[in-house]
Amino acid sequence: MLLPGFRPNMEMELFFERKMEMPLVGTKEMFAKAYDGGYAIGAFNVNNMEIIQGITEAAKELSAPLILQVSAGARKYANHTYLMKLVEAAVIETGLPICLHLDHGDSFDLCKSCVETGFSSVMIDGSHLPYEENIRLTRQVVDFCHKYDVTVEGELGVLAGVEDEVHSNVHVYTQPGEVQDFVGRTGVDSLAIAIGTSHGAYKFKPGTKPQIQLDILHEIEKRIPRFPIVLHGSSSVPPEIVKIINENGGKMDDAVGIPEEQLREAARSAVCKINIDSDGRLAMTAAIRKYFNEHPEEFDPRKYLSPARDALKALYMHKNKNVLGSAGKA
Ligand SMILES: [Zn+2]
Repeated sequence: MLLPGFRPNMEMELFFERKMEMPLVGTKEMFAKAYDGGYAIGAFNVNNMEIIQGITEAAKELSAPLILQVSAGARKYANHTYLMKLVEAAVIETGLPICLHLDHGDSFDLCKSCVETGFSSVMIDGSHLPYEENIRLTRQVVDFCHKYDVTVEGELGVLAGVEDEVHSNVHVYTQPGEVQDFVGRTGVDSLAIAIGTSHGAYKFKPGTKPQIQLDILHEIEKRIPRFPIVLHGSSSVPPEIVKIINENGGKMDDAVGIPEEQLREAARSAVCKINIDSDGRLAMTAAIRKYFNEHPEEFDPRKYLSPARDALKALYMHKNKNVLGSAGKA
C-alpha cells in the first residue's frame, strides 16, 4: 500500500516521464493563437496508419497546427499502443506541434489512463448527465489533468447523430445562460457547444436548409469573452464526394452536412477547434470504391489504400486552407 506522503513524488515522476516520452503539445497556446488569429485548429480522428499519414502530411505541407483525436472506438479498433506509436511516428516525421486528444472521454478513469499513457489533452463528455453531475465529473477530471499540464475540453448541450459509441436522436442546444457558471466552476480549458452541428453524414433532412445557430454562438461568446469554443460534428459531406460513392456502388442518397462557409464564419469567431471526421471517411470510401470499380482485377491493399490516403490528404489540405484558416499557423 502506498503512503499518502509518497504521492507527490509519484506524481512528479509521471509528470517528467510524460514530458520525456513524446513532445506533444496541449491546446492552451494553440487556442490563444487561434483566437487572436481568427482561425480554428482542425481536430481529426485517427484510426490507422493511412489516416494518420494523410492528415499529418496535409498539415506538414501547409505548416498547420494539428489536433489528432482518438475515440474509444479507435482504441478498440487499432489498440492503444499501435495508435500511440503511429502518432509518435507522425511527430517525428512532421516536426509539427501536434496535440494528442481523447475524443468523448466518458469517465474519470478513461481520462486518467490517457493522461498516464501520454495524451496531451482530453475531452470529458458529461453532456448527457444532469447539469450538476456534469460539473462534478468535469471538475474531477480537470483537477487531475492540470497537475500534468494536460488540457481539458468539457461539453454543454447535446449533439444529435451517431459517431462510434456517441449517439443521440435529438439536439439540445447549449444554453448561453449556463456557460459562464460551467466554465468557472469546472476550470475547463475549452468548451464544446451544441448549435446544430451533429455527428455522422446525415445532419439535415433532405430538402431543408442546412443552418447552424450562429446567434447562439455569438451569445455564448459575449458571456465568456476570449474563451475557446469547440464545434463537434462539423463535416460538410461534400456532394461531389457522395456522388463518387453513389456512382461506384454506394448508397448514401440523403447525406447532408454543414456548409463550409458557415464553418469558416465560426472559425473567425471564438471557435478555436473544429472536429471533422465523417468527411475523411467519405473521401477514403469514395477513392476505394472508385479504384475497385476501375480495377476489378487488383487485390494488393497498397494499390487501393494509396489513393484513399491521397484523397484524405487533399481533403484535409482544403479544410486547413479554406475552412479552418489554419494553414501557415504552425
Ligand atoms: Zn464529437
